[in-house]
Amino acid sequence: MPDVIIVGGGSAGAVLAARLSQDPARTVLLLEAGPAYAPDAYPKSIVDADVVADPAHDWGYTTRGTPTPRGKVLGGSSAVNAGVALRARAADFAGWPADWSFDDVLPTYKLLENTPTGDDAFHGRGGPLSIRQRTLEELTPSLRAFVEASVAHGFKRVHDFNGAEQNGADGYPMDAVDGIRQNTGLAYLTAEVRSRASLTIVGGVNVDRVLFSGTTAVGVIAADGTEYRGSEVILAGGAYGSPAILLRSGVGPAGDLAALGIDVVADLPVGQRLQDQPGYYNAYALASSHLEMSPAVGSLLWTASSEAIGDELDLHVTATHLMPGSASPTGGAIVLMAALVRPESTGTLRLASRDPEAAPVIDPNYLGSERDLRRMVEGVELGRAIARNPVFAPFVAAELAPGPDDSAAEVVAANVAVYGHPTSTAPMGDVVDSLGAVHGLSGLRVVDAAIIPVIPSSTTNVTVIMLAERIYQRVYGGRS
Ligand SMILES: Cc1cc2nc3c(=O)[nH]c(=O)nc-3n(C[C@H](O)[C@H](O)[C@H](O)COP(=O)(O)OP(=O)(O)OC[C@H]3O[C@@H](n4cnc5c(N)ncnc54)[C@H](O)[C@@H]3O)c2cc1C
Repeated sequence: MPDVIIVGGGSAGAVLAARLSQDPARTVLLLEAGPAYAPDAYPKSIVDADVVADPAHDWGYTTRGTPTPRGKVLGGSSAVNAGVALRARAADFAGWPADWSFDDVLPTYKLLENTPTGDDAFHGRGGPLSIRQRTLEELTPSLRAFVEASVAHGFKRVHDFNGAEQNGADGYPMDAVDGIRQNTGLAYLTAEVRSRASLTIVGGVNVDRVLFSGTTAVGVIAADGTEYRGSEVILAGGAYGSPAILLRSGVGPAGDLAALGIDVVADLPVGQRLQDQPGYYNAYALASSHLEMSPAVGSLLWTASSEAIGDELDLHVTATHLMPGSASPTGGAIVLMAALVRPESTGTLRLASRDPEAAPVIDPNYLGSERDLRRMVEGVELGRAIARNPVFAPFVAAELAPGPDDSAAEVVAANVAVYGHPTSTAPMGDVVDSLGAVHGLSGLRVVDAAIIPVIPSSTTNVTVIMLAERIYQRVYGGRS
């Protein structure tokens, strides 16, 4: 019987499996629903950083009819994401428990990365995750022009979003090296790590629920009925996967569970505070003289709306080529995606049924407040204004969406896009403590994006990795 069962081998689960199995005296079983490819056997669609959200390795979820990708493969969503490696900002930690301030977590952000550039005060040189700052020279001409047009529009160049300042524009820091996305199944679960006698990884196991003896977790049961017993269970199924497993296990709002015929083990508000960042795809046909689309990602303007609170930066305008050139009359496209990255709206995740093969009902409640809608429209109009700047305008032939005569306010609400950074479905405080232990239960922790208490204004992958590293250090006393 293993000492620890980890459910889900994504951004957090792969980190935990690698770290916990460092101790040869501790046995670890990692169960992943998707395929567990060997480090040198990942398909091109997973390692090619220009391919984002591979349908062959996806859970197939939707929110209100819109596809909502989630990686289903060892490496999880870090294996299908856009490879952007932004940290959360200091202001983003205001809503976290006291021992999770930016000063507390900075050493862990440094420890997880190896990046050759930037200030030593902010950067680590020897960690497992390779992060590289994309230079302007590496960007396509149109992505570079977006940064230069943002500067011409009055914004600063940032040079390093993971340094002291974020308000402004530049190329992204990326966890892609030479076009290869560094998912956690590669970066943490190296061939050497996988060869440890203390670690067993099993792919293709869809975990249904946690098994309890009273209020103590004693293992999990898979959808095919196979039981796995262990001394401790850590759920790392992600912001949708982990709450779904909790709910099927009888951990959730008692009324909802009773309605589904699920016996209540712990009455907790699981799935009641889902947060996600709404976006809008402001798309352009590239000018015929500037059709380059690789690398597809990208450059960023990160700034504050007129209604931002305190020193938060609540808007992203990202420039990418994450749109098929075939959708453009010139054969090339660029998307200026505006995203409201500090939404005040919260949504829900519920079970449609107790069937482990059924998708949960995900409702992020995008733009659920007038203020969120106003800020979102402001972001779209900011991106359009930069696109009209004479520095950027020569790189595009036409605006494709919204049309040149459309009002952003009218189309934004009807065409909300998924930015893909859901959090807070089993948040610290409400459902788990500051180290992921589920309130009122023993032997059960959640460690992944679900426990982030308030959505950060950044992308989320590096913060989830930091969270897993730090909980490992604090709970298991380990030196990473
Ligand atoms: C298309 C896309 C683009 C993104 N772009 C970026 C980006 O550029 N930068 C960034 O920082 N963030 C990005 N993100 C978000 C980021 O990747 C996630 O926040 C992060 O990977 C979440 O980590 P996690 O460990 O919480 O969950 P995941 O990495 O999703 O891991 C969960 C794992 O658990 C497994 N699992 C779930 N349920 C079960 C079950 N019942 N049984 C067994 N296994 C299960 C899943 O298959 C998966 O492997 C993107 C996400 C997506 C989907």
